[in-house]
Amino acid sequence: MKRIAILGSTGSIGTQALNVIRRHGDLFCAEVLCAGSNADLLIEQAREFSPNAVAIADESRYGYVCDALRDTDVKVYAGAEAIVGLMEMESIDMVLAAIVGVAGLRPTLHAIEHGKPIALANKETMVVAGAIVTAMARQHRAPILPVDSEHSAIFQCLVGEVSPVDKILLTASGGPFRGMKREALATVTLAQALKHPNWSMGRKVTIDSATLMNKGLEVIEAKWLFGVDAKDIVVHVHPQSIVHSMVQFADGSVKAQLGIPTMETPIQYAFSFPEHIESHLPRLDLFTQSTLTFERPDTDTFRCLALAYKAIERGGNMPCVMNAANEVAVQEFLDGHIGFLDIADRVERAMQDAPFVASPTIEDLIATDNTIRQQ
Ligand code: NDP
Repeated sequence: MKRIAILGSTGSIGTQALNVIRRHGDLFCAEVLCAGSNADLLIEQAREFSPNAVAIADESRYGYVCDALRDTDVKVYAGAEAIVGLMEMESIDMVLAAIVGVAGLRPTLHAIEHGKPIALANKETMVVAGAIVTAMARQHRAPILPVDSEHSAIFQCLVGEVSPVDKILLTASGGPFRGMKREALATVTLAQALKHPNWSMGRKVTIDSATLMNKGLEVIEAKWLFGVDAKDIVVHVHPQSIVHSMVQFADGSVKAQLGIPTMETPIQYAFSFPEHIESHLPRLDLFTQSTLTFERPDTDTFRCLALAYKAIERGGNMPCVMNAANEVAVQEFLDGHIGFLDIADRVERAMQDAPFVASPTIEDLIATDNTIRQQ
């Protein structure tokens, strides 16, 4: 029985992870559940899965959660520090990092320091601190298993390989605005941006998919996870979202991983690795899904992807600057304060103005993140 701590249990990834645990109760159980502020769902999950402990980041919800779980054995904690501290629990066999944004960084790092295997969905952790996270994971022998569907695909293509990767062909759906030009994007609405053609996800990652910042974050995540230069990670827009990504080797051979677009498969694989275990999900039918197409991304229109390549090329704290500016800009867009095209403009301005730190420590990165958010 693998005992799993879920950081972000009330989110899109977290609830799908609980679907996997529900279906494979003989193999996996929820040891710890952590949420941001959604106390009602956290309580419901605690009642169903009987974890050892739950934690809610919003301390004002502590009393409410305690009262609701008073008749159970579930321990209740609140606040960001408590979430970090829980990662030390002996009884945790794996941590699913599925908090959205840079808020996921500290608990994930702490879990790595305690040698916990990480199922990584929270790509912002790798974007902001990829050099430190990967070095720490090596030092503490904490394996990082990708959950992002593209990175899970690349990981699966590499199982059993001894040869170095020549290129990663990273697929992207293109999002809801694929094919549109700048003039048209100036007037798109929030509702249109939240309508992803293939994937149902949290609001922040859905907007990142519409701007292609999500693909930029994934390029940086792939660089750190697989040790491949960003110039060798080539984004292929593939609107059907069936090929989840590909790897090319020195002899020109290309391996791909295919499947229906669902996050439950890569979540389950991260939990069950190295085994592929039974799944109730529909099978990919290539007779009905017979057309698979690939296009170059339009980085003149979707500038966030180009900005991400710039950020990783510059290195240092620049991906952290980009990520912080993007998190704030996306929230502003979600709140209706700025337009869709303003997101890239704000990220670009932050990257131009921010003081550069070539070899940042974790403290430098946290300071950079705070400064950019305030600005
Ligand atoms: P959601 O917005 O759906 O969920 C976010 C989760 O994080 C919620 O449980 C939320 O709690 C919790 N949370 C937010 N802020 C804090 C905080 N400060 N402290 C503790 N918990 C917090 O996001 P997704 O599930 O869509 O995405 C999670 C991560 O996975 C992101 O990094 C995303 O890029 C990545 N990812 C997501 C995919 C998807 O299909 N959704 C695909 C691939 C990667 P509450 O509900 O209480 O606010």
